[in-house]
Amino acid sequence: MSMTSSLTTPLGGPSLPQERRMVTSIPGPRSQELLARKAAAVAAGVGHTAPIEAVAAGGGVIVDADGNSLIDLGSGIAVTSLGNAHPKVVEAIAQQAAQFTHTCFMISPYESYVGVAEALNRVTPGDHAKKSALFNSGAEAVENAVKIARKFTGKPAVVAFDHGYHGRTNLTMALTAKAMPYKSGFGPFAGEIYRAPLSYPFRDGLSGADAAKKAISLIEKQVGADNLAAVIIEPIQGEGGFIVPADGFLPALVDWCRANNVVFIADEIQTGFARTGAMFASELFGIVPDLITTAKGIAGGMPLAAVTGRAEIMDASHAGGLGGTYGGNPVACAAALAAIDAFENDGLIERAGEIETILKDRLGALQQSDPRIGDIRGHGAMIAAEFVDPETGEPDAALTGAVAKACIAEGVIVLTCGTYGNVIRFLPPLSIPDHLLHEGLDVIAAALAAR
Ligand SMILES: *Cc1c(COP(=O)(O)O)cnc(C)c1O
Repeated sequence: MSMTSSLTTPLGGPSLPQERRMVTSIPGPRSQELLARKAAAVAAGVGHTAPIEAVAAGGGVIVDADGNSLIDLGSGIAVTSLGNAHPKVVEAIAQQAAQFTHTCFMISPYESYVGVAEALNRVTPGDHAKKSALFNSGAEAVENAVKIARKFTGKPAVVAFDHGYHGRTNLTMALTAKAMPYKSGFGPFAGEIYRAPLSYPFRDGLSGADAAKKAISLIEKQVGADNLAAVIIEPIQGEGGFIVPADGFLPALVDWCRANNVVFIADEIQTGFARTGAMFASELFGIVPDLITTAKGIAGGMPLAAVTGRAEIMDASHAGGLGGTYGGNPVACAAALAAIDAFENDGLIERAGEIETILKDRLGALQQSDPRIGDIRGHGAMIAAEFVDPETGEPDAALTGAVAKACIAEGVIVLTCGTYGNVIRFLPPLSIPDHLLHEGLDVIAAALAAR
């Protein structure tokens, strides 16, 4: 393509050509222009992973302003699970936006908010009576889950886990484990937050039962059940490195919480909505949380979040104690109703299982010939490879970062994660065609082989 031809911006959605197409190096000239404006106008603390100007996305690709088409293995951090600009979501948004964009649910209620609450009460784990409340972001949902648990139990303390990630607001920074980049310099943090050890089979070698015993013993000694309102945990950790706890760990924690009047909160903000090959990851471990927080995949890319849980816990707060100006915005709710309908009826749970098979087969074959891949783990379309020094088993963050950077330069967007920064995480949209998934893995294999 000649640089003088004018680029027309394509519409996004599944009809975008499903191909990796590199017409400039990354970043191309138009993307460079935007990134220069970003550097001048946007706060330095707001970083970016791929140095491009996105102009359209859909299926399994993101198209940039220079006409490059990149394979998307990140879904905007597990948000566009349905695929970007999903037609059902786009139509629901357009229709609702033309009717009204806001009344404030706390002033003049509307049907779509109630419909989302009903849908969440139905699709979340457990057949007990449930209620929901809607918010704008994952962190806000976590904040409210903690408020609700404290009000219900009348107790102050909250336990979170090693490697946990729960957001960037003051309370959720306190719950989050990793200092850099999430917490450093931003304290002091909210009080009455305690941290317990996680089950991390690749690194602790403990059975689920033994890891739970260790965590519970620490909680009993250092916090005390009489002071503890809630335990909050991601069933599979996201930012912390896609850590899958050993079998039995989560059920033992739930049992202990039940026996001690402690609210068990599953943070399913990253794992929710078909991502792990189940509607919610809690189902994979046979647990039923008291409260569950959701966001990310819930509304096809619109900002929406929720707390759903046992009706008697959710109803503990006085009227006016929960809410927010925008919480459960009608456009976001319309998008969520369309998205949840697709999750339930369009075979996406099965699709996540197929993606798991492709990713684990390909990465497993790679691991056979490359001992720097220490561990491959995860469920559904939430799979990670942990990179180590084969001699010592020490985390290799430098290799991980170099591979991810090389992939982006070749037109494959991959994200890293992990407390030690040594994990590449695969979070493709469930709409990605198989051939793009394979091509993305080819690029990763080549990037790894070159190092
Ligand atoms: C992303 C995330 C959050 C925070 O959600 P935001 O919408 O970014 O505030 C909380 N918990 C988990 C598990 C997450 O992955």
